[in-house]
Amino acid sequence: MNESVTSTRYTGLIKNYLNRLPIDPNGKIISLGEGHTPLIQCNNINIVQEKNIKLYVKFEGLNPTGSFKDRGMTVAVTKAVQEGSKAIICASTGNTSASAAAYASRAGIAAFVLIPDGKIAMGKLAQAMIHGAVVIQIRGNFDDGMRLVKEVAQHAPVDIVNSINPYRLQGQKTASFEIVDELGHAPDFHCLPVGNAGNITAHWIGYTEYASENGALQTQACNLCAGNCNFNHVAKSSSRPKMLGYQAAGSAPFLRGAMVDNPETVATAIRIGHPQSWDNAWCVSKESGGWFDECTDEEILAAQRLLANEEGVFCEPASATSVAGALRDVENGKIPAGSSVVCTLTGHGLKDPDTAIKQATSKMITIDANLDDVKNAILSNMP
Ligand SMILES: *Cc1c(COP(=O)(O)O)cnc(C)c1O
Repeated sequence: MNESVTSTRYTGLIKNYLNRLPIDPNGKIISLGEGHTPLIQCNNINIVQEKNIKLYVKFEGLNPTGSFKDRGMTVAVTKAVQEGSKAIICASTGNTSASAAAYASRAGIAAFVLIPDGKIAMGKLAQAMIHGAVVIQIRGNFDDGMRLVKEVAQHAPVDIVNSINPYRLQGQKTASFEIVDELGHAPDFHCLPVGNAGNITAHWIGYTEYASENGALQTQACNLCAGNCNFNHVAKSSSRPKMLGYQAAGSAPFLRGAMVDNPETVATAIRIGHPQSWDNAWCVSKESGGWFDECTDEEILAAQRLLANEEGVFCEPASATSVAGALRDVENGKIPAGSSVVCTLTGHGLKDPDTAIKQATSKMITIDANLDDVKNAILSNMP
């Protein structure tokens, strides 16, 4: 039976959005069934109810390796394989290396990953290692790794699969398609944590592509930058969201207006001081009428706990930055009452169990193994 004609089985975002991606459908496609992640409406957060906000979280932690990086990786690795590549390389704060390692295994090619010594969450390191990547720890941070990857790619036969690879952004734009397909329209606001700013750029490419096909945009050259961005559209309607990018306060070059040399934050996935999509992200922000803001580590962890406690959704610290920022801007009215808001939860909480356990508010009760003690433990802790 010809599955592509008669089956509704989901087999990944390349097959799902084939006519919107620069992939040869007759070549080999490297997929793990990524994409198609749930858009969960948050109903239990007080401020959201008070202000009549429709708040949705797009739970990208439910991708095959637990982060949105898989959306970009399926396209980047498929392209690399179709062009005959035998090895890929990336610098990573963890999730890119996990994803690159998995897709390289799937494709039967080699993966080399450069990670910052000691600053990567345990789950992510486990993934890179179990998939058989060559893990190169550097005594330096992500930005050092990125610089080295760009240099070494000129001297060795390896394809870079960081978000400077344009196929990464092509894959990641499909998250916007899914949101519009599901809601029937774009949200008023879309909130993302920002590290290299590839993902906020990719989402804008996706929203723009849909909106321009609907005839809601008029095309004209970008007048917001010196022509360094990827966009040539100016909004003529509210068919695209305002894009809000939130950074960790100790790692916030977009707030400083300049690169940051020694970024620090508990949200290791966005511990990046030299964003690779700097010009694109400024254009996204201006063209969409959005803004950047920063959250402290305390606010980020509080948002992570809130989502876990109130909504049953466990994301990693970096991901919670989008919710921390959104809730603050709902509270102060920058996001008006009645708005629809999507927050991207970029990665799964299980990536970083150490941080979760350290800050969890749950009681751990140790007792003897007998019925009375168990009964007591329950009755004395009933709500
Ligand atoms: C990669 C990553 C980010 C940052 O995305 P950029 O495209 O670099 O801005 C945020 N959160 C998580 C969990 C990530 O893995």
